[in-house]
Amino acid sequence: MDARRESLREMLSDWRARTAAAGPAADLANMPRLRVFGLTVALLNVLHVLWIVLATPGDLGDPDASRWRVGLLWTHGVMAAVMVAGAGFAHRTLRTPTPGGVLRLLGVGFGLLGLLCASAIAVVDQWVTPNITPFVLSALVISFLLRLRPLDAALVLGINGVAFVAALGLTQSDPALLFSNRLNTLGVTLAAWGLSVALWHGFLTITQQQRALGEVQEALEARNRELHELAQRDGLTGLYNRQTIIARAGEHLARGRRSGSPMALLLIDIDHFKRINDTHGHPAGDAALRQVSDCLREGVRGTDDLGRFGGEEFLVVLPDTTTEGARVAAEKLRSLVEQEDAVADGLVLRTTISVGVASTDTDAHATFAALYAAADGALYAAKEGGRNAVRVGDASAPDPRAGTGASPTGRGEG
Ligand code: GH3
Ligand code: MG
Ligand code: MG
Repeated sequence: MDARRESLREMLSDWRARTAAAGPAADLANMPRLRVFGLTVALLNVLHVLWIVLATPGDLGDPDASRWRVGLLWTHGVMAAVMVAGAGFAHRTLRTPTPGGVLRLLGVGFGLLGLLCASAIAVVDQWVTPNITPFVLSALVISFLLRLRPLDAALVLGINGVAFVAALGLTQSDPALLFSNRLNTLGVTLAAWGLSVALWHGFLTITQQQRALGEVQEALEARNRELHELAQRDGLTGLYNRQTIIARAGEHLARGRRSGSPMALLLIDIDHFKRINDTHGHPAGDAALRQVSDCLREGVRGTDDLGRFGGEEFLVVLPDTTTEGARVAAEKLRSLVEQEDAVADGLVLRTTISVGVASTDTDAHATFAALYAAADGALYAAKEGGRNAVRVGDASAPDPRAGTGASPTGRGEG
């Protein structure tokens, strides 16, 4: 028994939490509905007024019928005004940011006002007919249309039901019909509330699923971004990979051409790297590669792009940089690498780099291939000159090694 009560309490508290979470979305969803519904009902009210005015004579002979005619004109007129106001307020909330509490109040308030107006019409109708169609219809339509929290719906339908039961006595003098209509009011109110609660439950499920879907989508997008980032990176050093650094160079080149500012390339190759591998093994070689990468990362500007171009070769793209500026940057990197030793398994590994420099300031129309060839030629010269050195190439000059097949990188001209 206790377990059952406990699980019931849990269910209720879960429902309450979900209701609280979905409430704001429901209040918001009610506004466009209120706008369309308000205008539609107002139009119907106006048509009723016109129909009554045009189709019935001012004096219907019978005093009850005459009262009914005037009563209908008033109730439909007032309801039309209320509905237009409701639609107007709802429209405003869709245009300007509105606090959640106001949205909720609008939904509940205009739901109740609409119901009371329709009930008033049904009360007026009692002068000529015992049917309570406007009351029944409005209770069902409001429950169907507006997403109200169960307690709000109980309040709205309850107040309307009590008011209707009381007001029926004003116009319905037949005790049996009065009793029957009051009994039906109770049934209709409960049924409308049941409908409202059922639809609320559906709304909770849908919003919960939407939220879960949104979370999955967000996680997926984050993972996609991560994958995209990973696909651009070299696994060992974390620098841009060859494909990405070439693409970045192309972008900087195009931008520099448009703005008329030069762009430089540094082609970097670790000296005698094979010796490290051969003497200390590949893991030591990898440690040295990472150490050099860290030095380069540390030595370039935030606006520069740095990539691992091949095995132990790196490419640095320097936007807004002349040949002289690039030479100074290259010299700084060379010196940094020379000073920082890599340590692997207790071994101190001394590394140096040779750097080939080229900038578009010697040829504003230089392509990436021409720039790369100039940097490659300069790197070759740095190696020839004894390594641990920086040499400058000229993108406008033909490659002196063209046709010889010689290239320090051993990969041709990229
Ligand atoms: P040089 O001064 O002329 O550049 O001499 P080098 O020995 O550095 O020149 P070479 O291009 O002949 O050797 C590059 C070596 O880099 C060959 C290859 O074994 C090594 N290498 C390439 N990629 C990696 C890597 O990811 N890890 C390790 N440990 N070694 C690599
Ligand atoms: Mg090398
Ligand atoms: Mg090499």
